Amino acid sequence: MFGAQIKEFIIDNTTEGLRPFIGQMDFEPAAKCWCGGQPEPWTPEFALYLRCPSCGCKPVRFRPTTESLQRFYSSTYWYEYQQVHKCPTVEERFEGDMLDRVPLYLNWLRGLHPPPCKVLEIGSGNGRLLFELKQAGYDCTGVEMDKNLAALVTNKTGVTVVHGSFPPGNDPIYDLIVIIDVLEHAPDQINFVQNVKSRLSSSGKVLVHCPVLDTLEASIQFRHMFNPLSHLWIHTSESFSKLWLEAGLRSAKVGELFNMPVYAVNKL
Ligand SMILES: [Zn+2]
Repeated sequence: MFGAQIKEFIIDNTTEGLRPFIGQMDFEPAAKCWCGGQPEPWTPEFALYLRCPSCGCKPVRFRPTTESLQRFYSSTYWYEYQQVHKCPTVEERFEGDMLDRVPLYLNWLRGLHPPPCKVLEIGSGNGRLLFELKQAGYDCTGVEMDKNLAALVTNKTGVTVVHGSFPPGNDPIYDLIVIIDVLEHAPDQINFVQNVKSRLSSSGKVLVHCPVLDTLEASIQFRHMFNPLSHLWIHTSESFSKLWLEAGLRSAKVGELFNMPVYAVNKL
């Protein structure tokens, strides 16, 4: 399948809310799994995802091109896209996140490494966690794909949020790296985990929260996680742990939030 055919296939197999965005994006067939395995059709329930027989990961079948993804995250994502999905705005999330997730993330992070130390959050979004980490005595930096949001959060919280997917190459090493709802968006999984490792101090720890679904039943229950425009990989417990091992990092589950595991990752 090519071009218009791919778009038609995606439109036919996706939810109403995603359709307006598909016209503005270009897609390409996903060739291989991150592990090198050859993904196969999975189940008619999930026509837009494949399954890797080697690691169990579910790569999206047609992936938005790099340019499409950059456009999508640079301005569309937080405002138009989240609004169409009736998600709270960035400003509402800044308040709301303190009521559910932020206190839990703070607890896990304190357990991994108490302040003071250097923290990096990749994909810091509305910035509430960074703001609270700063109040708690951590030395914080964020990175965010949306340039305007990066500037807005820097102004609002006093924490430096850099525009991009990682801080510039010469940036110092971090004791804690926070990756929440981000791993599943990264097109090149191996490059992403290697990049994380290169920023980590020798005793550094990573906190990761992302969709991890081990069975078809669980996948059906959490079917909204299978969003073909932005969730490019849905991991299983096995593929998640294999991915980090590939970069010489070990992962262990430390808890659960919103029915998905929360992991701590460190160097072997
Ligand atoms: Zn695989």
